[in-house]
Amino acid sequence: MTEVRESCGLCAVTGDREAAAFVAEGLHAQQHRGQEAAGILVSSGGSLELHKGLGLVSEVLASLPEGWRERGITAAMGHVRYGTYGSGSLANAQPLLVEISGRQVGIAHNGTLSNASVLKNELTKLGAIFQTNSDTEIILHLMAHRMESTGYDVRHALELALARLEGAFCLLVMVPGGIYAVRDPLGFRPLSLGRIGSHGWAVASETIAFPLCCAEYVREVEAGEMLWLPSDGGEPASWRFGPQESLFGSGRKLAQCIFEHVYFARPGSIVFGDSVYEVRIRMGERLADESPAPCDVVIPVPDSGMFAALGYSRRMGVAFDMGFTRNHYVGRTFIDPATARRAAMVTRKLQPIPEAVRGKRVCVVEDSIVRGTTSRARIKALREAGASEVHMRVSCPPHRFGCFFGIDFPQPSALIANNMSLEEIRKTLDLDSLSYLSREGMLSCVRAHSPCDYCTACFNGDYPVAPPEGAMPRSCGQ
Ligand code: SF4
Repeated sequence: MTEVRESCGLCAVTGDREAAAFVAEGLHAQQHRGQEAAGILVSSGGSLELHKGLGLVSEVLASLPEGWRERGITAAMGHVRYGTYGSGSLANAQPLLVEISGRQVGIAHNGTLSNASVLKNELTKLGAIFQTNSDTEIILHLMAHRMESTGYDVRHALELALARLEGAFCLLVMVPGGIYAVRDPLGFRPLSLGRIGSHGWAVASETIAFPLCCAEYVREVEAGEMLWLPSDGGEPASWRFGPQESLFGSGRKLAQCIFEHVYFARPGSIVFGDSVYEVRIRMGERLADESPAPCDVVIPVPDSGMFAALGYSRRMGVAFDMGFTRNHYVGRTFIDPATARRAAMVTRKLQPIPEAVRGKRVCVVEDSIVRGTTSRARIKALREAGASEVHMRVSCPPHRFGCFFGIDFPQPSALIANNMSLEEIRKTLDLDSLSYLSREGMLSCVRAHSPCDYCTACFNGDYPVAPPEGAMPRSCGQ
């Protein structure tokens, strides 16, 4: 499934002279969370220095600024960004760096504030002038208002700003002496703490970054926790902020994004306390229990459907095979649009392998179906490659609603399951059978937290924080 994109990824290191290089590596490991822009902010000699640009980590951070390594910088934080509307400018790339009351403050954000427009209107009336169209700048203006009008220090201004925010926000906030790491009270997005030897610390959206920072996973940054990591690698200090209960009335404690486990996070990561690999295997197993398909071979839609397909085939006792080959170098098409339609150009990225599927009843395991356009093309391609039957099993429930918390889905009207019944989808996609994993089945696959501590709003419309009236879902940093 390639029609949905993640918002952003964060990484920070303190206490190690390779901090900037470690953060660059940690961002590279999280490139899947955002490919539009990347940046690193470091604390050196009592001031902050920023390096950022548009493009992939390998392009933007190919060479770190001269002197960073030699100076033995011990605190760095970075960001990879994905955004959509109006986001293609360097101004929106993060971290953002500003000066407030003579003090440098840098910030990087993963998530989306659901009350951004309310806060922005309020701040604009107070005279704030916005340089970007990102939610993240709102947090800086909230802090600036407090620091300039009351003389509060950064920590207290940040705490007061946090109390005004609703929605999804994992933050890194840097000042010359260290880095604050913050996770919102509902814990929508993942953020974890790692230890570098006995001298340093690392924070990352996904733990897959830790080995590349020479760090070992310690624990999640808790929902509603603000951590202070001194630049010299000293022990972190921790505070709580909230209260959570003011944001919702359902008795829910957390609203962790289950879609991180279904699709976004890398299988080598621990997210919300669970191994993404293990959760995806269990999703496949549960899918087999709920909806066994009459098939000779189980094939994944690479890459994100891989582990659910593995679990499905093992539980079914049916062979697993790679029925699609992936072209990693897909760029623009060289033929005109009409011909491209005829040639099913949508399948350029994944093409069936006739020898793997010819004459077989194939069960394709997909992590999700969004618009259905790419699925339809792939199923057609499988039939043309000789599959005698094509069944599809999906490792999450049907997507019917948008996301207000940092995930870029198409508008609900464009979601195939928003408009059609299961049987209508099956016919539209030209499948012999189609089943989705139930919501209960999906939630039974996570173990570290209670199933009711997950957001499933894009499946059932039960938003943990009420969307603003008349608002359309937005992606990270808009
Ligand atoms: S609406 Fe869906 S994608 Fe968005 S946070 Fe909730 S579970 Fe995740």
